[in-house]
Amino acid sequence: MSEQQITFSAFQKLIHDMYFEKDETRGVEGTFMWLMEEVGELASALRSGENPQNTAAEFADVIAWLTTIANVAGVDLTAAIAAKYGHGCPGCGQFHCICDNAEKP
Ligand SMILES: [Zn+2]
Repeated sequence: MSEQQITFSAFQKLIHDMYFEKDETRGVEGTFMWLMEEVGELASALRSGENPQNTAAEFADVIAWLTTIANVAGVDLTAAIAAKYGHGCPGCGQFHCICDNAEKP
């Protein structure tokens, strides 16, 4: 899996192959706690703004833990993303969102 070729499918498979047995044993609830911890670390990194490499690594950790939960819950992230966002904004249906700023798209 090279940097240029990474897709959500390839990444989800990588996480599955590396961690699924441990993740399945830990379960959704335990894994969700790890995700929340990583979200906190991302917030800290963004707030400090001191180490861009560390901030990038925290983004990777959040995606990895989110992907882990998808694996345990049996969700295909590529299919989920395509179904929800592949046809434009879920709110307005446009590829450049025109939803009111007060609304969550
Ligand atoms: Zn929209």
